[in-house]
Amino acid sequence: MAQTTEGASEIVEGLRFSFMTDEEVRKHNVLKITNPILLDSVGRPMPGGLYDPLLGPMDEQAPCKSCGQQSFQCPGHCGHIDLVSPVYNPLLFDTNQRKRNARIL
Ligand SMILES: [Zn+2]
Repeated sequence: MAQTTEGASEIVEGLRFSFMTDEEVRKHNVLKITNPILLDSVGRPMPGGLYDPLLGPMDEQAPCKSCGQQSFQCPGHCGHIDLVSPVYNPLLFDTNQRKRNARIL
């Protein structure tokens, strides 16, 4: 069942996807990943690791440490990793190639 709000149309007139900037990524995430170790010696998530509870609960009974919801309601939360040097996004290779070709012509 679709939900609408007053003034909203049920007809989609357009759709656009784009990549977020670095600033937008940092604004929408809850954790900087700094720990390469995922779990401690007894299987608990390490703080700052990829399984940090701030990113969402791993246990169905535990509330999320970011939004407080149970695992089925929590949408999950983004973290980020600062890389030591810039890297190309492989999803943008075709776009980058088209831009390079456009400049050469
Ligand atoms: Zn959550």
